Amino acid sequence: MSKFWSGVENVAMVLFVFVIAYFFAMPNPGGGRSSSMMKKRSCISNMKTIEGALKLFYMENTYQDNVAISFKELISKKYLKSIPHCPAQGPNFEYMMHSTKALDGKVISEVECSLHGKLSLQDTADKNKGL
Ligand SMILES: [Zn+2]
Repeated sequence: MSKFWSGVENVAMVLFVFVIAYFFAMPNPGGGRSSSMMKKRSCISNMKTIEGALKLFYMENTYQDNVAISFKELISKKYLKSIPHCPAQGPNFEYMMHSTKALDGKVISEVECSLHGKLSLQDTADKNKGL
């Protein structure tokens, strides 16, 4: 084989490697579904963090019939480090927290993302919400 043709072969090989690398580097081949799935997962983990903070707060504090609490309060009392934000909705979005006092005096809390749904429904009704 002449030097010329083996040179062409090398160039083709390099091109081939570039094409493969290009496809591997492409973000989300097959659409944005995997990325929105990741955002939803991270959103759910945020909601679990908030739920945990709420549970602890209601365990350690005495409260009146009005059991509503704000993020500001949770942070100033050190139950949360900062306000978590849904990664699909940006920093201006705030999670909704609903807390109600049950008949036995215990407080039941629900955390909700307006895009991804309620935390308690993530295994059922809101499983695919926001995807
Ligand atoms: Zn969300």
